[in-house]
Amino acid sequence: CVNIGYGRKEIGQAVVDQINTLSYFNSFFKASNKPAIQLAEKLAEITPSGLNHVFYANSGSEANDTALRMVRQFWALEGKPEKNVIISREMAYHGSTVAAGALSGMPPMHEQAAVVDNIEHIQCPYKFAYGRDMDEEEFGVLAAGWLQEKIMEIGADRVAAFFVEPIQGAGGAKIPPKNYFVEVQKICTENDVLLVVDEVICGFGRTGNWFASETFGIEKIDLMCLAKGITSAYTPLSALMVSDRIANTFIEKGGEFFHGFTYSGHPVSCAVALENIRIMEDEGMVKQVGEDTGPYFADQLATLADHEIVAEVRSCGLLAGIELVRDKETLEPISEDMDECDEICEVFRDFCLNHGIITRPIHSTVMLTPPLIISRAEIDFLVKKLRLALDDFANFLKQ
Ligand code: PMP
Repeated sequence: CVNIGYGRKEIGQAVVDQINTLSYFNSFFKASNKPAIQLAEKLAEITPSGLNHVFYANSGSEANDTALRMVRQFWALEGKPEKNVIISREMAYHGSTVAAGALSGMPPMHEQAAVVDNIEHIQCPYKFAYGRDMDEEEFGVLAAGWLQEKIMEIGADRVAAFFVEPIQGAGGAKIPPKNYFVEVQKICTENDVLLVVDEVICGFGRTGNWFASETFGIEKIDLMCLAKGITSAYTPLSALMVSDRIANTFIEKGGEFFHGFTYSGHPVSCAVALENIRIMEDEGMVKQVGEDTGPYFADQLATLADHEIVAEVRSCGLLAGIELVRDKETLEPISEDMDECDEICEVFRDFCLNHGIITRPIHSTVMLTPPLIISRAEIDFLVKKLRLALDDFANFLKQ
């Protein structure tokens, strides 16, 4: 999440300046502060059209939690309180609060009290597992169809929203087929199901556009969750972008929305976000990822596809996943047992650290998300070291 890289003194200066001007004021009772207002304007400008309102929070989890409450309150205000079922996806990660954990598609979290009524999960567009031999477009239609089936099973009059990450991050860098979201949007529109896009990982340049919604042609967005890259993690901040449709209902019919946090719209974090976005804009970082380092990263990583334990390499901008197997001919998995698989793949992470690179194994997928400032030479270094770590791991698997 440190999109602009470490050690940017301008960010330190922005923090000092803001603390010396106004270190804190609350965002309740029709109050706000200058950086929060300026940032809201900036976010409305750079996010896809129609998202012109901002609800601040402090983490991606809180943004998703807020989205869940907003969705249900929206339908209640529209006179349809029974339209309250949320559809999310298996392997989704939306955070760790009770609600965000319930939205996430990770059963071990649900077993630890992350449970909220009326949340359903469908399969995710994980082509490697569910449609390896299928044509990309055919699989996109199939995977979007799982949403349609679920809506029909529950009844469109009961389904409030579909929560979705453009690329599943913590679920293992699962990049959907290009047409998946085209189909998903059609289904949401036809059934009047709100689309909540969780851009916590994908936002702020990760996929080579400001937002992955642009990369995947997602235009009809009702709510968009932002965090991580919004401040490049120099300070905590998240934002829920709210569409005009939702905002207007709250403004016209809503009265008070009893929701918010002491630190919502914290002036220091908002000042950091403004400076972070300024740096990204001035240095053309998003364009660089989209047109130069992103494609270069994809090409270089693709050279690893010939490795004996690599079954698939996929990437989008500066987000990539490498699927590891014991044997690429038979696709024998690292382990059928997920806990054991996690334990074994941690060894791969350690081999990477030994070679001076940081990776994140998610089951048998290795996830890579370098900062947006990575250079071509650093990509070369990363890929060279990855191959060495893959060799080490292949030998380890044979022992
Ligand atoms: N959504 C997504 C897509 C995430 O990747 C994460 C964090 N990895 C979250 C939400 C939760 O964010 P936080 O950890 O800031 O609560």
